[in-house]
Amino acid sequence: MQVFGLIGDPVEHSLSPPMHEAAYDALGVDARYVTFEPTGAGAAVDAAAALGIAGLNVTIPFKRDVLGHVDPTPLAERVGAVNTVDLSTDPPRGHNTDLAGVTRALAHHDVDPSGADAVVVGAGGAGRAAAFALADAGARVHVANRTAARARDLADAVGEGTTAGGLDGLAGRLPDAELLVNATSVGMDEDATPVPADGLHAGLAVLDAVYSPVETRLLRDAAAAGATTVDGAWMLLYQGVEAFETWTGREAPVAAMNRALRSRL
Ligand code: NAP
Repeated sequence: MQVFGLIGDPVEHSLSPPMHEAAYDALGVDARYVTFEPTGAGAAVDAAAALGIAGLNVTIPFKRDVLGHVDPTPLAERVGAVNTVDLSTDPPRGHNTDLAGVTRALAHHDVDPSGADAVVVGAGGAGRAAAFALADAGARVHVANRTAARARDLADAVGEGTTAGGLDGLAGRLPDAELLVNATSVGMDEDATPVPADGLHAGLAVLDAVYSPVETRLLRDAAAAGATTVDGAWMLLYQGVEAFETWTGREAPVAAMNRALRSRL
């Protein structure tokens, strides 16, 4: 039997175990997925390798720390975060599947970022994933964040053509935008939105990284404005799909993983 796992703190309410175990069941893979709250990223990677664990997902607060304990892919190195470790190699390989979470969630809804004017609201972990993913997919990205200096740091890291500012300039960006990602925690477990509803329009596709609740106020406002909406559970699903495929080399049973995820949200 193979063992996969998640390291983070807290991980108690993680949806990754049922999502991945649904994939093992659907494909008849003899594996289990367990969660750990280790004392540190390096100790966890070393212990997992010693125990013969096949792969690890990594979540808050270890996504950056784990970089120093694996051989990161060029993408993970550029983004500065690892969320998936493949322990079948020595040293373990560190991947970032959060970017695929963004692009595959959009692709599932026939949204193509190539050539689009995109606005990413937020510059934390999810904002980094979204900004790199959209820029790499050919979008012109503007990062808007409550702390404008953090948005500028992210735009500089993504590279030329990426612009940045505070939330005060957000409304002025929306009329020309074709793609909007909320990567702030605003809307999580609350009926709030970081985006003025009157700026939303039918020419927009809106991805909300927040998945609790699945239907956020932003997505309700976006649907009312006629925009295409993509909820955060799709992003969560596809980072897991990409991790499964990285570890096993097999096409993931997306529908089974999606059912397992949504039945728990
Ligand atoms: P994070 O690194 O802590 O970043 C939080 C972001 O939210 C920062 O940009 C922060 O701005 C902004 N923010 C927080 N409170 C705000 C407020 N009251 N007004 C305006 N901006 C505010 O968190 P994260 O890991 O990026 O997660 C952000 C959200 O995305 C969470 O809801 C998380 O659950 C979700 N998420 C979803 C997925 C998925 O797969 N669907 C993956 C990752 C994260 P400052 O920089 O100014 O503090």
